[in-house]
Amino acid sequence: MVDPDCLFCKIVKGEVPAEIVREGERTVAFRDINPQAPTHVLVIPREHHADATAAAATDTGLLDAVVREAHEVATAEDVADIGYRIVFNTGAGAGQTVFHLHAHVLGGRGLSWPPG
Ligand code: 5GP
Repeated sequence: MVDPDCLFCKIVKGEVPAEIVREGERTVAFRDINPQAPTHVLVIPREHHADATAAAATDTGLLDAVVREAHEVATAEDVADIGYRIVFNTGAGAGQTVFHLHAHVLGGRGLSWPPG
């Protein structure tokens, strides 16, 4: 399913430009426009799902594909060995602003805990 009004669906279709770093059968990975770390890549499914919970409810296996791809991105960016973070903001109260499931892949600097 595609949502014609969704920004990330438009990136998947090539209607909005993005710096794409990897493309897979089910996923697209591109650099965040406002990076919060030296590596800040978003991994999204090609299909529209509002968030991680919605995807898990309707398409078992899709989150696996997203997380596997996040690890491939971290490896390609050379941050996998030192450690990196995969973040799924889920809901506006948690800071989600784009309601198309995306994994933030963050690395390349010290990452404190708890996150803000
Ligand atoms: P959220 O806050 O929903 O978890 O994350 C959305 C992310 O999308 C933010 O980190 C934001 O910087 C990024 N973003 C918003 N608009 C665009 C865009 O047009 N292009 C790219 N590459 N990233 C975007």
